[in-house]
Amino acid sequence: MSETESTNSHATENLPWWQWIPLTLQIIIALVLAVILGISLGAGNPNPSNAIFITNLAIPAELILKALRALATPLILVAVLHTFMTTNIPSKAGRQLAVILLTNTSVAIIVGLLVANVLRPGTWGSLVVPVPIEITVQSFDPWRLFKDAVPQAILQPLVDNNVIQLIVIAISFGLVLRGLKSEQIDQGKKEYQSTENVIATLFDAIIRILNWVIALVPLAVFGIVAQIIAERGFVPFQSLAAFIVAVLLALFLQACYYLLRIKIGSWVNPRQFLVGGADAFLTAFSTSSSTVTMPITFEILQTKIGLRESSASLGALVGSNFNHDGTALYEAMSALYISQVIGQNLSLGQQLVVVLTSIFASVGAAGIPNAGLVTMTLVFTSVGLPTDYIALLVTVDWFLDRCRTAINVMGDMTVSALLDGKKPRSVDEA
Ligand code: ASP
Repeated sequence: MSETESTNSHATENLPWWQWIPLTLQIIIALVLAVILGISLGAGNPNPSNAIFITNLAIPAELILKALRALATPLILVAVLHTFMTTNIPSKAGRQLAVILLTNTSVAIIVGLLVANVLRPGTWGSLVVPVPIEITVQSFDPWRLFKDAVPQAILQPLVDNNVIQLIVIAISFGLVLRGLKSEQIDQGKKEYQSTENVIATLFDAIIRILNWVIALVPLAVFGIVAQIIAERGFVPFQSLAAFIVAVLLALFLQACYYLLRIKIGSWVNPRQFLVGGADAFLTAFSTSSSTVTMPITFEILQTKIGLRESSASLGALVGSNFNHDGTALYEAMSALYISQVIGQNLSLGQQLVVVLTSIFASVGAAGIPNAGLVTMTLVFTSVGLPTDYIALLVTVDWFLDRCRTAINVMGDMTVSALLDGKKPRSVDEA
């Protein structure tokens, strides 16, 4: 047994017993227990003597949301720096990649917003206000967005949770560090390695802390669902069910868009793409992680679909770090959904802000489970929506995360197919 294997098995042996149960199963158990507790506390007709207990059931969800908000900005910063320092992007193909990524992500967000505007899932049934809050949805001012793109101080975006400023800082430092690295490599120097190691270690550290928070999600789901059922019965869940249907429909439309783009812009047959890609889609669905799926995506793009190695690596290994169309679609829909729930419909201008921030938030989202939930806090903040409502979305995120991860991976594969162009790989290239 290798050293890492023995360390890993040691770490697994030391896990508390409940960690042996897969997270999804823990959440399902939490949901069942919450329904039982909610019913026994009155299911919409609570006994006033239990009022304080019922209110306090929301505490775990509130704490988890605070932790997610706090982790969002460092996660994005370090993830973008890490990608810039460790990946190799040829300049011409890089520009083509950037255009494809931007178009696909914009289409995803527009599809999401269209579906949410047409179906209006937030108006199906009534949801509760999780905690008493002042709602001030910010108005849209494009000049303010532009003026605010540069922060007052380098660390300001980390404190204000401003995703646009954060991406400006992350990309500036990313570009500079990348340039310094290649200069040093040309001169035979190795100083860049220590910075690269620090960034890689910080990235791992943030992900580990995030995993601690995610491990507590079943507790949050238990508390918040029990509280809602106790106070309001089952009516609020109609609205969440409508939201699930709307997101699934939007993801399906996005998948159709990919197939159409492949048919028009690449030599790959969409049917062959779907059949050949099945392993990657299923792995993405079962792991909720596009990063974990990455090696499989890379492999099948070449072996089962027949793309050139350069296109497969640019789309599936490089592009995938920035490309999370399913996540962008989901974040934009969530913002619109919650605005409908609280009756503060977002104007067209505010929806444009949502489009912009969702693009940035999805660029910075890591390809790990629930990352979309973390960066979503920044999209909400950008239009002044109360992030407390994300607690409600936590209850359905375990399922929707799987679905949007499959679309994220399909998006990476589409990018590779488009980069491969209209001419199939010749026998000499194979
Ligand atoms: N789980 C997604 C992924 O790995 C990210 C997200 O949470 O949206 O791509």
